[in-house]
Amino acid sequence: MSCVNLIEKERNAIINPLKTCQPLGAMYAVTGIRRAVPLVHGSQGCSTFVRYSLSRHFREPSEIAVTSLHEDAAVFGGRRNLIEGLQNVAIRLNPSLIGVITTCSSEIIGDDIIGFIKTAKKELAEKIGEEKTEKIKIVPINTPSFVETHLKGYDNAVKALIDHIAEPSEPNEKINIIPGMVNPGDIREIKHILGLMDIEGIVLTDISDPFDSPLRPSATELKPYYPKGGTTVEEIVDSANSTGTISLTKYAGSGAVSLEKKYNVPVELGPIPIGVQNTDQFLRNLKKLTGQDVTDDILDERGLLIDSMADLSSRYLHDRTVAIYGDPEITAGMARFVGELGMVPQLVLTGASNKEFVPDIGKVAKETGVEIDTMVGGDLRQMEVYLKDNPVDLLIGSSDGRLIAKEAEIPLVRIGFPVYDRVGYHRHPIVGYNGGIHLIDLITNTVLENYYEHQHWKLQQ
Ligand code: SF4
Repeated sequence: MSCVNLIEKERNAIINPLKTCQPLGAMYAVTGIRRAVPLVHGSQGCSTFVRYSLSRHFREPSEIAVTSLHEDAAVFGGRRNLIEGLQNVAIRLNPSLIGVITTCSSEIIGDDIIGFIKTAKKELAEKIGEEKTEKIKIVPINTPSFVETHLKGYDNAVKALIDHIAEPSEPNEKINIIPGMVNPGDIREIKHILGLMDIEGIVLTDISDPFDSPLRPSATELKPYYPKGGTTVEEIVDSANSTGTISLTKYAGSGAVSLEKKYNVPVELGPIPIGVQNTDQFLRNLKKLTGQDVTDDILDERGLLIDSMADLSSRYLHDRTVAIYGDPEITAGMARFVGELGMVPQLVLTGASNKEFVPDIGKVAKETGVEIDTMVGGDLRQMEVYLKDNPVDLLIGSSDGRLIAKEAEIPLVRIGFPVYDRVGYHRHPIVGYNGGIHLIDLITNTVLENYYEHQHWKLQQ
């Protein structure tokens, strides 16, 4: 039998959520722009908790400004806070771009963000001059955090950046890549693949350097306020002239769809290139949009992954059951990859409620030939209860599942966001063939550590 067994949550309350609120995804996206500042229009905590979450995952400081709304703003609105906040950020930090990110409070108050930005620009022009003011792009990003997840906030931010900044001119023969909420190691792997195929890319947006920066205090003209790297505003402008856009996540590809609708830039949505099939599809998409051939070097990398699978899958991994939880794209990609490894993706769980998720898991179930228990819009408590009656050999997901793993005595392979109780995970890719090799090593070492005798290196009974 091969199908999806959809398990509904039996309560409305969320216990141990598998998601955070929309602004986090928008702050992540804006951080990937060179000399950009995320300005959160909300209360202090809306930025503090995100700075804390990002910093403990990436082990880098994250610079996020906030308009610091208090009780009076709830009654009178946050007009003055936003206008003064924008001017402070513009004058002190001289950014290339400010992303104005809304929150629960500013959305519920109904603040006129676009009107406030207009007023702020007018006042700013009187202080620093028209020309300097025009050089700073100010993009409103609506992230009503009482609905959906951080991934939707990321999607809204990338779409807003494209809608406000992209401008058609001459074709540039580049490929736009919307990477989704991945790690610096993943973006570097995607750029490595593009390099091997001799394709120039525009990453919308590129957090690889901002969230994994060299410590060289005087090495860049961007210091002290900005980290090295990131997508430039000029590149975002130019994204309207690209040969195509590949969104590595179909669940957050509205920016790509917008480029297609407005500027006829062809789009390919997903899948995230985790594992063999998905990476093959990514390469097919690149070839389709650019006409560039897959090179021998890439085929060698594919061969190394297949070699690892041949060496390790049947010996250590075959038939081991897995529960996978996290963001929809990564969860679906991992389910397919563990299936490719001969393991059984027994449970997949996401905190998001995307409609396409269940059919996507259905395809994996069909390919793998197993029944997959699936939870959509779920939380970690749901998984905890499930595991009591349906234990698995391995958990795959974020650090948020660590206590469940400990209690249930099931080893946990940490991937996704956030990973804060181990170091270095953000540096290594899980995408591309190289990412597949990294994953298979991680999974196999976890199995060896937990299911094999230490002395004789035999399977424990
Ligand atoms: S849920 Fe609302 S109040 Fe809480 S951090 Fe997110 S935006 Fe701020």
